[in-house]
Amino acid sequence: MTNNEIISLDHEYIMQTYGRLKIAPVSGRSATMADADGREYIDFTSGIGVNSLGYCDEGWIRAVEEQLGSIQHMSNYFYCDKAGQLAESLVKLSGLKRVFFGNSGAEANEGAIKLARKYSHDKYGEGRATVISLVNSFHGRTITTLAATGQDVFHHYFEPFTEGFKYVPANDIAALEAAIDGSVCAVIAEPIQGEGGVNELDTDYVKALRKLCDERDILLIFDEVQTGIGRTGKFFAFEHFGIKPDILTLAKGLGGGLPIGAFLAGEKTENTLGAGMHGSTFGANPVVCAGAVEVVGRVSKPEFLAEVAKKGEYFCEKLLAAKLSKVVGLRGKGMMIGIQVVGNPKDYLHDCADAGLLVLTAGKDVIRLLPPLTITYAEIDRGLEILTEILK
Ligand SMILES: *Cc1c(COP(=O)(O)O)cnc(C)c1O
Repeated sequence: MTNNEIISLDHEYIMQTYGRLKIAPVSGRSATMADADGREYIDFTSGIGVNSLGYCDEGWIRAVEEQLGSIQHMSNYFYCDKAGQLAESLVKLSGLKRVFFGNSGAEANEGAIKLARKYSHDKYGEGRATVISLVNSFHGRTITTLAATGQDVFHHYFEPFTEGFKYVPANDIAALEAAIDGSVCAVIAEPIQGEGGVNELDTDYVKALRKLCDERDILLIFDEVQTGIGRTGKFFAFEHFGIKPDILTLAKGLGGGLPIGAFLAGEKTENTLGAGMHGSTFGANPVVCAGAVEVVGRVSKPEFLAEVAKKGEYFCEKLLAAKLSKVVGLRGKGMMIGIQVVGNPKDYLHDCADAGLLVLTAGKDVIRLLPPLTITYAEIDRGLEILTEILK
């Protein structure tokens, strides 16, 4: 099929909920993708931070294929070796205690919110279920995670939303303190807001947030659906701040391209959810977990993470050296990069795609780059050549 034939099928039969580019990807290697018409693109998006090892990584394919040829699914009435191994790695890397596996970021956050409310309910009874979230956050598309998302544009059409969410501006500890009353059980935050514009939390703020939560027995949930799994040059972004959250959520990059989400519980909540209190038919799928074991094993190596950090710096040095007239700011960590631009970032995104480069946007004025963590320097150079031409 050609791009146009694939696009026509989509337009006729699929709900038109996305503003798609007129490109139908059919194959890829590393950070280079080809569409159905045979046109090649440098990919600075990895899906949206999903293909952490790039397209068709050999080790990842081997892990997935081996599992496919053994057993493709089992119900949660049974024990799964790959899920156990994956959980062990995530627990050892995070310092948290236990994992629950689901299928997406939104589900991971739903689970985290359930966990926090149950902890508070067990200890303090009813009426202490409010979750504080940050303005410009993004936590997912279910009714509850839309409510958790601190952007008004997401709070239309689907009323009634789940009750019990309050929003405070990021990096404003006084606002947070003022919002805390006897009804609050948790704070949920992305260490670097992804969809909201690649907005980093300040280290001082995160430290104060951690302290405040400790003092009031409020659970700190870090949504690392986008920032986790090596994206920022550390395995988890929380490591940049010298603190540990009570609950951690993961998804996007964890499966290397297959759907998986997870929430991790620290000491306080490791035994809060008992038999029958949470579940997922597809959660902890062995094929997906086998791929994730490969991703985590590779990405967690110190040399690999150092390389992510180095490539991130390389991106920023080259962008700064180009003295681009359309660029007003550069932010992010590792290979989670936000380029603040003058003009509409969506226009640049389309110009880039026309020239053979895939980028993302975030917030109102940011071009966001989330390249595969394994991108080569040659691919970075080719992509940056296009990007700097468009932003000069
Ligand atoms: C993408 C994202 C989500 C939602 O993940 P889905 O897998 O699309 O449900 C939640 N939180 C953050 C920070 C994200 O970037």
